Formats: sequence, structure tokens, C-alpha cells
Amino acid sequence: MFRGTDIPPTIWIRRGRRTTDLVLFHETMHFEDFLRRGKENYLRGGTRRLKNGRIVEVPKRDELIRSYLREKYVLEKVLEEQANWVEKFGKGRWADEEIEASINYFYNDYYFKCLKANIDVTKLILK
Ligand SMILES: [Zn+2]
Repeated sequence: MFRGTDIPPTIWIRRGRRTTDLVLFHETMHFEDFLRRGKENYLRGGTRRLKNGRIVEVPKRDELIRSYLREKYVLEKVLEEQANWVEKFGKGRWADEEIEASINYFYNDYYFKCLKANIDVTKLILK
């Protein structure tokens, strides 16, 4: 798990859990997205704590959009990396089942949730 609110921003690996190359790549791409967009932009749309300790809540809808954009960025990077490997080495970096799981994760946990919340994902563009 990548947490951009940590100082410094940190990728956390859970003890006792199998951490695969794909999981590490996934989290590293979140970190890349954070670096590319900048902290403020990356964290926008999420619940945050002010310096005085007060917690600012944001609508669920905003959190959903934020997560959708983050995960979409990562999935595109995963698919791009896989395609590059196929082109260069004649086989993918990850197994087909892992790629399938990544796609399902994005659609089930983010894409369809946006549709259910009547969010027009075609209008969501990551800058
Ligand atoms: Zn993710």
C-alpha cells in the first residue's frame, strides 16, 4: 500500500502476506503518480487532517473519483509494462491470471462503483 500522506511518502508491505512483483509494481506506480502530479494534486478529493487536528471530510463521490483516477493510472501502467515485455521478450512480465486479476480489481472495485454512483467516467481525465 502506498500512502502519500506519510512523511516521507511510503510504500507499506504487509508482514506475512505474499508480496508479488506485480503488487510492488502496482504500489510503485501509485508512488510515480504521486511524484508526477505532486502531493497536493494527488491527495485532493480525500479526507484530510488540518494542522489544528480537525478532520475535513469529503463527499464519498469525490473519494470514489479520486480512487478511480489513481487505479486507472496504475492499471494502464501495468498493461503498458506487460505489452512492452511481450514485445521485447516474447512473453509478459506477469502471468495472464495476474493481469486478469488486475483488470477485475479495477473494474469491480472502482469502475462499476463509479457507474453505480452515476459518475460519468468518460469525463474523468487524469492530468
Ligand atoms: Zn492501487
